[in-house]
Amino acid sequence: MQNITWDHIPWNSYKISLADGAAPENPGRVIAHDGGALQVVTPVGAMAAEVSGRLRYLAELGSSELPALGDYVAVRPGDPAQIDAVLPRRTTFRRKEAGLRTESQVICANADLAVIVTTAPPEAGSTHDLDDFNLRRVERYLGTLDPEVRPVVVLNKVDLVDDPEAVRSRVAADLPGATVITLSALTGLGVDALSRLIVAGHTAVLAGSSGCGKSTLIARLTGQEIRTRAIRDTDGRGRHTTTTRRMYLLPGGGMIVDTPGMREVQLWADEETGTDALAQAFPEIAVLEGTCRFRDCRHEHEPGCAVKEALERGEVSPERYASYLKLREEAEMTAEKRRRRQQERGKQISRFAREIKKMRKTR
Ligand code: GDP
Ligand code: ZN
Repeated sequence: MQNITWDHIPWNSYKISLADGAAPENPGRVIAHDGGALQVVTPVGAMAAEVSGRLRYLAELGSSELPALGDYVAVRPGDPAQIDAVLPRRTTFRRKEAGLRTESQVICANADLAVIVTTAPPEAGSTHDLDDFNLRRVERYLGTLDPEVRPVVVLNKVDLVDDPEAVRSRVAADLPGATVITLSALTGLGVDALSRLIVAGHTAVLAGSSGCGKSTLIARLTGQEIRTRAIRDTDGRGRHTTTTRRMYLLPGGGMIVDTPGMREVQLWADEETGTDALAQAFPEIAVLEGTCRFRDCRHEHEPGCAVKEALERGEVSPERYASYLKLREEAEMTAEKRRRRQQERGKQISRFAREIKKMRKTR
């Protein structure tokens, strides 16, 4: 397998999106990440890098992000090189942080496609062990995507089904807006169709439950043997502490990022992107929204609701409508929690400011 070099990185087309003079003297892109140690590729080669003290400080203050896989960064040469700044992200692929329901972690920055891997749903009467497919969960994943990220759903292990095309079209009908591909990572059947989607210079992020075949698929795509188990470090007691995530180069010049350990994704809704993500996951509902009688229609009990009318005519499926309402509720709850946390933080800051004032007076 070939290594990623600066020639594979679409820096020039990215640079156009920066403000005048904002391009750093020494740019780089993060291609491997294990929590602490980073690897960047730069015009003078790939190298180990760490987050500079200043950037760490800014991140603690909340005025900058820490570098994530796929980020464009400003690099200060050294051993290890120092990452001084994270450049603006065109897109982010996030997951919620375990335990913290209202925080999210960027898994991959500047991805062009998200490849959601699951297994094909079992056919009627099948005895094969195809148990990963869950339409609601796929919708959930799709709901987390930035609108600029192209959604691709891979139904793997089609060597275990009789009629892959029937399976594909059935699932595709339920997921308007996503490209649905059936393949077998094990036999290689259909993998070309996915390779062709990840064009030179583009970055794809791969996500899905463990066991659905992501490692096998990456080995296929990159044309090399890869251990099927993700590389994991343990702390001596067998607990897993770090997981290296990296970007792989495809023979066609595209890049792909694996996300081991990503089991369950909950809808991450930003105040800014939440509704966009919802619209992307439910395009057939989004197109109707503008034609409801009330501009702020909730599509529940309002008269003249275009969504309810389409539901009655059978143009929107009841399952899709139900999961739309559920995801919307989840998104709104997340946004509400975040608002409350921010309010709380604001109160703490003003309390702190008052204390300081008092201290000054008594001095
Ligand atoms: P990951 O946890 O998502 O990285 O999944 P792996 O790549 O480790 O695969 C999990 C299991 O599924 C392994 O036993 C693979 O050999 C098997 N597997 C992967 N792809 C396919 C496929 O296309 N067909 C079949 N039958 N098995 C597969
Ligand atoms: Zn409505």
